[in-house]
Amino acid sequence: MKQVIFLFAIALFFGFQTQKLTAQNEKSPKLVVGIVIDQMRYDYIYRYWDLYSDNGFKRLINEGFSCENHQFSYMPTYTGPGHAAIYTGTTPAINGIISNDWWDKDQKRMVYCAEDLSVAPVGTSSAMEKRSPRNLKVTTLGDQVKLGTNFKGKVIGISIKDRGAILPAGKMADQAWWFTGEDGGKFVTSDYYMKSLPAWVSEFNNSDVVKNYLKNGWNPLLPLDQYIQSNPDNSPYEGKLGNSENPVFPYDLWSMSKKGTDANIIKVTPFGNDVVADFSILALRELNLGKDDITDLLAVSFSSPDYIGHKFGTRAVETEDNYLRLDLTIARFLDALDKEVGKGNYLVFLTADHGAAIVPQELMDKGVNINYFDTKGFNAFIKKAVEEKFKSDIMIENISNYQIFLNTEAIEKGGFEREDIQDFIAAQSLEFDGIYKSTSAHVLNESQFDGVLGIVQKGYNQKMSGDVLILLAPGWLSYGHTGTSHGSPYAYDTHVPFLLYGWNIKHGSTVRRTLVEDIAPTITSLIHFQMPMGCTGNPIIEVVDK
Ligand code: ZN
Ligand code: ZN
Ligand code: ZN
Repeated sequence: MKQVIFLFAIALFFGFQTQKLTAQNEKSPKLVVGIVIDQMRYDYIYRYWDLYSDNGFKRLINEGFSCENHQFSYMPTYTGPGHAAIYTGTTPAINGIISNDWWDKDQKRMVYCAEDLSVAPVGTSSAMEKRSPRNLKVTTLGDQVKLGTNFKGKVIGISIKDRGAILPAGKMADQAWWFTGEDGGKFVTSDYYMKSLPAWVSEFNNSDVVKNYLKNGWNPLLPLDQYIQSNPDNSPYEGKLGNSENPVFPYDLWSMSKKGTDANIIKVTPFGNDVVADFSILALRELNLGKDDITDLLAVSFSSPDYIGHKFGTRAVETEDNYLRLDLTIARFLDALDKEVGKGNYLVFLTADHGAAIVPQELMDKGVNINYFDTKGFNAFIKKAVEEKFKSDIMIENISNYQIFLNTEAIEKGGFEREDIQDFIAAQSLEFDGIYKSTSAHVLNESQFDGVLGIVQKGYNQKMSGDVLILLAPGWLSYGHTGTSHGSPYAYDTHVPFLLYGWNIKHGSTVRRTLVEDIAPTITSLIHFQMPMGCTGNPIIEVVDK
C-alpha cells in the first residue's frame, strides 16, 4: 500500500510538472510576428483571391482569423501615424505621431516623425539617416514585450522605410533596420540602437542579393491577359517608372539603377518586398528569434506596395502583379517561420498602415463627380482672406497636413481673439472647391465627437496640431493625375485587412467593426502582457475569447 501511495505521489509530482510546463507554453508564444503592408486596401484580398497561392494570404485566412471590417479611426491615414497606431494601441492624439512630417510650433520648422538630430547614422554616412523613435510619446507592443520578458525577449523592426521599422519596434527595441538605395542598396540603422553594424548585416549588404533582383528586371509573373482585375498595362492613370517611356512591362531595372549602383528603384518594385523578406529571414536565424520560451517580437513592414500604388494607382497590372508576388513572398516568409520557429510556436498578425484612393481621374472619366484639390490655390485663397480681414500678412504661420497654424505673436500684437480668427478661417475654407468640412482647435478642445469629427479628433493633439483643420470631400485628392495617394478619413483609406494566424489563434472571422487601436491590446491579451501605456483600444473579443 505504501508503495502504491509512493508511486501515486511520484505520478502526481510529474503530472504537476508536465502541467506546469504546458501552462508556461500556453501563456505566451515563442515569437510574435507583426506584418504591416504599406498601402493595402481591404479589397486586395478578394479582388486578387483567385490568383493567389494556397500558402500566403489564403493560408492566413483559411487557417487563421480575419477581421473583415477593420478600420482606421483617425486621420491623417499616413504611414508614420499608421505604424504608430497599430503598435501603440492608440491614435495620433495620444501617441504623438500626428503625421509623417508636421509643423513644430516651438521649433518653427517641419519635423519628420522618425527624425532625431541627436543620433548618428550607422552603416551609412548620409545625414538623412539620423533616426530614432524619439517623437513617439508612448510605448509600443515592442516595448511591452521588452517589459513583459524582463528585457530578455528580443525586439526587432525591419522595413524599407525607416518609420516602418522604428515606430513599431518602439523605445526599448534591440534593433531597427531600414533600407537605403545608396552603394547598391543596404540596410542601415542609427546609434540609438548600436554603434556599428554586426557582421551578418555587413555580409548581407556586401552580397549580390539586391543586385540580382535588379539584374532580373521586373516582368509580369503571369501572362498579362490573366490580370483580369486591372486596367490594360498602358493606361493613362499610371505614372512612369524611372526612365521608362511608357508604364508597361518589362521594366529594365538594371539600367534604371545605373547597373546596380543606385538601388532606390527597387523600392518601387515587388522586389523591395523580397529584399525585406530575405533580410528578415536572415535576422530570424542570426538573432535566434523564437528559439527559446522567452517571447520575441519581429516587426516587419513591406513598404513597396505603397511606392507602387503612388506610382501606378490601385487598378494597374503593376499593382496586381505586386500583390501576386507579395503573396508568394509571404508564403516564403511563413515557410521560414515554420522551419526556424516551428508551426504553432509563433503568432502572426498582418494588417496595413492605410489603404488608398482609386485614381480620381479614372473615376472622373467614369462619371463620378469628384476632382483634384488645388492645395496651392487654397493656401493663397486663405492667406488673402485673412490678410484682408485682419490686416496682417504674418497671421498664418504655416499650412500643412490640411491644418492652418496661426502666429501667436501676430494675434497678440493685433489684439485679436484666437477663436475669432479660427472661426473666420474655418468658415472661409468652406468656400473653396473640394472642402467638405472644416473645424477649429477650440471646437475640438471643448467637446467629444462621433462620426467624421470624431475621426478628426482622434488624429488631433491639442498641443501639437493646428488652429483650423479642413477635410476634403470623399474621393478628392491633392495629387498628380497619375498614381494615387491616401490620408483621408474615408473607407478607401481606412478599411484594411487585419488577419491573425498561428499560436492560440482559432479559425474564423468577424464583420463587426474593429479598430486599428484594438490590434495591440488584442495581441497583449493573447500573450498575457500589459497593454501599451497609451492604449485606448480593446481586445477583439471574437479573437481572444476561449
Ligand atoms: Zn504607408
Ligand atoms: Zn502599366
Ligand atoms: Zn503612401
